[in-house]
Amino acid sequence: MNLEINQRNYPSKFNKPVVVICLDGSQKEYLDMASESKLTPNLDKIINEGEFILAHSAIPSFTNPNNISIVTGQPSAVHGICGNFFYTPSTGEEVMMNDPQYLRSPTIFQKFYEQGAKIAVITAKDKLRSLLGNGLKFDENRAICFSSEKSDQATLELNGIEKVNDWLQTPVPEVYSQELSEFVMKAGVKILNEYQPDIMYLSTTDFIQHKYEPGHEIANKFYSMFDHYIGLLNEKDISLVVTADHGMKAKTNSSGEPNAIFLEDFLKEKFPQDNFKVILPITDPYVVHHGSLGSFAMIYAENQELISKAIEEIKNIHEIEEVLNKQEACKIYHLPEDRSGDIVCMSSESFAIGSTKSKHDLSSLKEPLRSHGGLHEREVPFIINSSNLDVTTLGQIYNYDAFYYAAHMANK
Ligand SMILES: [Zn+2]
Repeated sequence: MNLEINQRNYPSKFNKPVVVICLDGSQKEYLDMASESKLTPNLDKIINEGEFILAHSAIPSFTNPNNISIVTGQPSAVHGICGNFFYTPSTGEEVMMNDPQYLRSPTIFQKFYEQGAKIAVITAKDKLRSLLGNGLKFDENRAICFSSEKSDQATLELNGIEKVNDWLQTPVPEVYSQELSEFVMKAGVKILNEYQPDIMYLSTTDFIQHKYEPGHEIANKFYSMFDHYIGLLNEKDISLVVTADHGMKAKTNSSGEPNAIFLEDFLKEKFPQDNFKVILPITDPYVVHHGSLGSFAMIYAENQELISKAIEEIKNIHEIEEVLNKQEACKIYHLPEDRSGDIVCMSSESFAIGSTKSKHDLSSLKEPLRSHGGLHEREVPFIINSSNLDVTTLGQIYNYDAFYYAAHMANK
């Protein structure tokens, strides 16, 4: 028996729990370096017995679009969430997309829930919670969905669980801390043991990865922490996929200063009489660790006739590697046309894109800028705890194939 969700077929029943973990910002090198330092024996064992594949993320390689891709099994052309917000040129309005009304597809959780499955979803930051939990009902004792950030506010009515901090014997962590992610993992282990979900999704946050490079003592500590919990999860008979929403690269020059191209300033200089608006979909209320600088930008042109001229000018910027008009960009990168700018740009590995210099407050950046959003951060680990899959025949795997393969492995 199959269950079709967003044009993909999933087995409708599993022989074991399906567990997917999204390790936010986990560029492959973080895992490699921690493993080289012998800090991840459990993960090494999982990889030895299973598979380690390099997958692609959805573009833009940002957190929300990719988390939603993973939980719908499709890129943002299908589910609609292509950044933290979208811009409406006619009204000048910038609309946050963390409300489920902007979601155009059901989640895998919702569809399985409707079939009677038991679902558990835990996210580090609360901004994802309402999107991830959309369509779940919490009055039948078959769904749990909460964030570590607001774990103290969870109620049976809205989250399917209450008094989380007492239950886990862990206080609410600081929002900018390793503990915010650790809370997710710790709760995941306890929920798997006590609640026995059919499907569980754990999504951490990339605070550590924004600050520290692979192999840094603090980054290694993070993966050592993760390894402890992944070992506990994998003691149970589960079908597990560990992937990431995006990678993470340093966007700095040799002195550690941010490397950024301010595209709105650039276009003002080239077209002094005309208005272009540069939208950076990474912008959100939590900007402390990236100063709203990522490697992906959308540009809206007030005068549509200038689009190709502007593209030609931007092509001269060496550190912009990809510049496409809306139609091309949406076709190649599976973006929703009605939420995309007239021009889509992505920068090189060591550069970020800003709008105007004056709009970015970089004073809160205490460590050298590390960020994501473009093509150089789309390569992500994809680890399966089963070797029952002939990976040589699969072609390009995406992080949003995680539930597909985890579900099929759980059905073998
Ligand atoms: Zn992320």
